[in-house]
Amino acid sequence: MRYVVLIVLLIPVLVAVGLWQQWPGSERVPSRYNPFAPFNVDDPLNPLTRFKLKALDQDPQRCLAALARAREQGAIDYIEVGSPEIGACQLDHAVRVRSTSVRFGTSFLASCPLALSWVVFERQRLQPAARDIFGQDIARVDHVGSFACRNVYHRASGRRSEHATAEAFDVIGLRLKDGTRATVVGHWKDEGPRGALLKRAFKGSCDVFGNSLGPEYNAAHRDHFHFGMRGYGLCR
Ligand SMILES: [Zn+2]
Repeated sequence: MRYVVLIVLLIPVLVAVGLWQQWPGSERVPSRYNPFAPFNVDDPLNPLTRFKLKALDQDPQRCLAALARAREQGAIDYIEVGSPEIGACQLDHAVRVRSTSVRFGTSFLASCPLALSWVVFERQRLQPAARDIFGQDIARVDHVGSFACRNVYHRASGRRSEHATAEAFDVIGLRLKDGTRATVVGHWKDEGPRGALLKRAFKGSCDVFGNSLGPEYNAAHRDHFHFGMRGYGLCR
């Protein structure tokens, strides 16, 4: 409910910012606060970021353009896969993410907004946490996939999972440059630096993704973080 109120309150602000930007003269609003400016993965995160990422869901060409800019910056390597039908599931302007500043166990399919969200999270929340806690970057992220043509919790009927449209990514562990590993199943409750890294990574993800679900949510998530695009900051 409070999100609805927030959105309603935001509308006049967005209109005002839009009109202001149209005014002849200069760029008065920094791009990170301007909902109409092209999306840049290094614009500092703020409460508008999530809305900008979600808006790109409705505008595949703008999203792919933002992703292409991120590639030019060296922030991500991917290939466009278009909008294939896989089984009973339809992808929409999806990409296959090959690497970012980290390697992945295997490349993975992602909707364009998910790929962009991951890059923002990685650059502005995940790597800074690793540098603060371990004094080094994360080199590799272990995951159990992003795309699966199925319903929520594998039920025979009911709501389609976010994974059915490659709009969620399940992470099981992180590996630092020196080889140190932190896994959700093994170190979430760890009192040391590995537990601290996982907790800070998870908390940071809540600023970017539509929803972040972890071990405290339910038994199904005891061994992974689910980062999805639905919702507006659900974080459990
Ligand atoms: Zn998941």
